[in-house]
Amino acid sequence: YSAKAHRNEYSSYEPEMNRKAHDRLRLESDLRRAIDEEQFALAYQPLVNLTSNKVVGVEALVRWHHPKRGLLPPGEFIPLTEENGLILQLGEWVLGAACRQNKAWQDAGLPPMMMSVNLSMRQFRQHQLADRIKAILQQSGMPPQYLELEITESMTSDVEFAADTLSSLKELGVQISIDDFGTGYSSLSSLKRFPIDKLKIDRCFVNDLTRDASDAAIVSTITTMAKNLKLKVTAEGVENDEQIQFLRERDCEEAQGYYYTQPIPANLFENWFRHRSQTA
Ligand code: C2E
Ligand code: MG
Ligand code: MG
Ligand code: MG
Repeated sequence: YSAKAHRNEYSSYEPEMNRKAHDRLRLESDLRRAIDEEQFALAYQPLVNLTSNKVVGVEALVRWHHPKRGLLPPGEFIPLTEENGLILQLGEWVLGAACRQNKAWQDAGLPPMMMSVNLSMRQFRQHQLADRIKAILQQSGMPPQYLELEITESMTSDVEFAADTLSSLKELGVQISIDDFGTGYSSLSSLKRFPIDKLKIDRCFVNDLTRDASDAAIVSTITTMAKNLKLKVTAEGVENDEQIQFLRERDCEEAQGYYYTQPIPANLFENWFRHRSQTA
């Protein structure tokens, strides 16, 4: 029978493909339930000013407490939510939770801090994004100037659309930063057209900074350019003293990375912050 022959011919990888397709369907149905049941949590990672050595903000990074598979990092589910549109609901949850946390910290007497939230392409293109964010800010009671929205260079490829969307966001009084800067292909002239506040240098350039001359040159160039364009600049993925020293010498404004702490849950962040304030 040809069907059987056909099956044998592909038998080495057909089960593998079936398993992958099956895993994906399972993950997708798990995700729908996870949104309803709020199985997500935010981890927070500080951004530190390199001149004052003070914590100036935190970035909210989503995690999924999967009932069977345990703690999943965003790389394992965000791409799927972007494909199937669930990112819109998840993204609203992230924004709301981050804003409520920022307000709670301010009410608890922590110094004012920025709260950075990552936006995905699909959210960026969402109809009336600014109105939705405005409603979230109002519901949480968080002052808009503490919210920083992180977008990536790829979201700015449609220059007209990006310029319009970004200015509607800026009207809310929030800050805008470009995440993973240097890995995309945004033209320098388009940068000038966008009402952005900050560049976040991707950690792939920071990683080998002190050993690789071209990485060092890239980081210096971005830092200088940011200064000339009157933008703030954050180095991501800082892990050691040598990198901190290099960044200080180049007048890089802020750093973020395991050097300070990994992203941690809100209560651990509070402990980390209070301990650091006492010992600094
Ligand atoms: P990102 O926005 O560039 O976030 C920084 C990532 O670098 C985080 O990974 C963080 O844990 C990691 N990182 C921080 N410091 C260091 C370091 O010193 N060394 C190394 N090796 N890594 C460091 P995470 O939490 O797994 O997030 C990965 C990406 O997932 C984020 O990259 C962001 O693009 C996306 N993401 C996370 N949360 C959200 C969210 O709520 N919404 C959307 N749309 N995307 C999100
Ligand atoms: Mg980010
Ligand atoms: Mg990044
Ligand atoms: Mg990223």
